[in-house]
Parts: sequence; structure tokens; C-alpha cells
Amino acid sequence: MEIAIIAHDGKKTKMIAFLEEHQEVLKQKRIKLIGTGTTSTRAREAGFEVEALLSGPYGGDAQIASRVAEGSCAMVLFFRDPHEKHPHEPDISMLLRLCDVHNVPLATNPATAELLIRSI
Ligand code: PGA
Repeated sequence: MEIAIIAHDGKKTKMIAFLEEHQEVLKQKRIKLIGTGTTSTRAREAGFEVEALLSGPYGGDAQIASRVAEGSCAMVLFFRDPHEKHPHEPDISMLLRLCDVHNVPLATNPATAELLIRSI
């Protein structure tokens, strides 16, 4: 099961804390983590195996959107920072849209991510 992780800069610390809190589930062999560049680097530093894609502003969100469209990514955990402006907003919108198009579970905050993780 492929799970994508993405965290905006203001939410990266929260994402790592979330991963650590749920490491028993997320480090299972049947789970494959993929993520945008910097989020993945932070997660790797915390001891997680993650396939790192491009950094968000360089196309990482678009790469994850493509995995969602192809049907390989089964869940997206995207800790957005609503107080930040993002140059790659069109890519972010595309990712959110494609999750809806393909009915892929998408959490945009830790509370929802918690509910999704409990369901797997
Ligand atoms: P990052 O990308 O993990 O490379 O910082 C996240 C984003 O800004 O979408």
C-alpha cells in the first residue's frame, strides 16, 4: 500500500511527530511511503524509508498527483500550512482534485490523518 506524505514548511515538524507516533503501522513491510523532496529527507532522518520525489515547488506534488491518477498511490497525507503562500498552488490544486477524481483518501491536517491511519 503506497502512502504519500507531503508537509509544507510550517508543518514539517508536525509531520515527523505524526510519523513517529504511528511508526508501528507506517514501518510495516506492506506500507510503502513516498513523499515530496524535503518532507522525505526529514522523514528519512527520523528513520523512515521513503521514496523521495522532487521537492514540492519543483514538481513533487505533481508527481504524487500522477501516482494518484495511475492508481498506485492509495492514500495522501498532506499537512498544508494555510498561513503560507505557495508558488506551486496550481500543482497543489491538481493533487487535491485528482484525489477527488479517483476517490483516494486525502488528509490535509493531522486530525484527519490520524483517522485515516487508524483505518488501515
Ligand atoms: P517539500 O514539498 O517536501 O519538498 O518541502 C512540500 C510542498 O511544498 O508541497
